[in-house]
Amino acid sequence: MTTRVKPGQRVRLRDLDPAERGGYDSREDPKAVADLARDLERLCTLQETLMAEGQRGLLVVLQAMDAAGKDGVLRKVAGPLDSRGVSVFSFKAPAGEEAGHDYLWRVHQRCPRKGEVTFFNRSHYEDVLVVRVLDLVPRARWSARYAHISAFEQMLHDEGTQVLKIFLHISKEEQKQRLQERLDVPEKNWKFDPRDLEMRARWDAFQEAYEDAFERTSTEVAPWHIVPADRKWARDLAVARLLVETLEAMNPRYPKPNYDPKKMKIDP
Ligand code: ATP
Ligand code: MG
Repeated sequence: MTTRVKPGQRVRLRDLDPAERGGYDSREDPKAVADLARDLERLCTLQETLMAEGQRGLLVVLQAMDAAGKDGVLRKVAGPLDSRGVSVFSFKAPAGEEAGHDYLWRVHQRCPRKGEVTFFNRSHYEDVLVVRVLDLVPRARWSARYAHISAFEQMLHDEGTQVLKIFLHISKEEQKQRLQERLDVPEKNWKFDPRDLEMRARWDAFQEAYEDAFERTSTEVAPWHIVPADRKWARDLAVARLLVETLEAMNPRYPKPNYDPKKMKIDP
């Protein structure tokens, strides 16, 4: 089951089972198949309505350890959406112009315009995760960022951008298997990055940095959601559900046309 982190709540990742199936038996469970199909269809309708309404945006932040399936989620859940109203942005280590500004500068520019759904593959959270674990800036700098981030997300919310934050939770063992597969299968070699091994070696430090980020940046308006991700199908179901719930709560409406459809005559 997805865990929604309450403001200030301390979550222990080791207590949450990454192999959870969300109440379904297996990938082939007819209910799992039907629920995913229904949620994806619902999601497409809601996204079209948000786009048509053109007043508010949805920012979906995806964070995870390497090989946890951020790309898989994007393919399965973002893939079916109408590309006119969707954008995906993957954040790498800041370079060039980005590195010349504060850490939120590049992030703010990529936030959704009105009517748009934007997916962040990694995000401003890297600035309290990898930056902290690899000691890229002093503690005094990164520890002040939780408050900046919460204030920034509050501002986005107040100005019409809903923020949905999702952590894909995989086990260290599952990551090992996925990384090994990238080495064993020639067609997957391109997905392997030797630097992933350096990050994996710091697994515990990352888990702790994530727990701190959840505790300090889960707010009423922008809570964290922890999705069990060892089973890809259960992960996709959980993420699709979160998106549907979030958009349903936003309750977008088709705009009234600025003409009277009944008075329009189309020449034969
Ligand atoms: P893939 O699954 O395809 O490898 P990825 O998200 O790991 O996807 P990469 O290009 O391999 O993409 O990695 C991006 C790297 O950039 C990650 O290691 C991430 O930690 C790092 N990164 C992102 N933002 C920052 C940041 N603000 N400061 C330092 N490093 C960052
Ligand atoms: Mg990588």
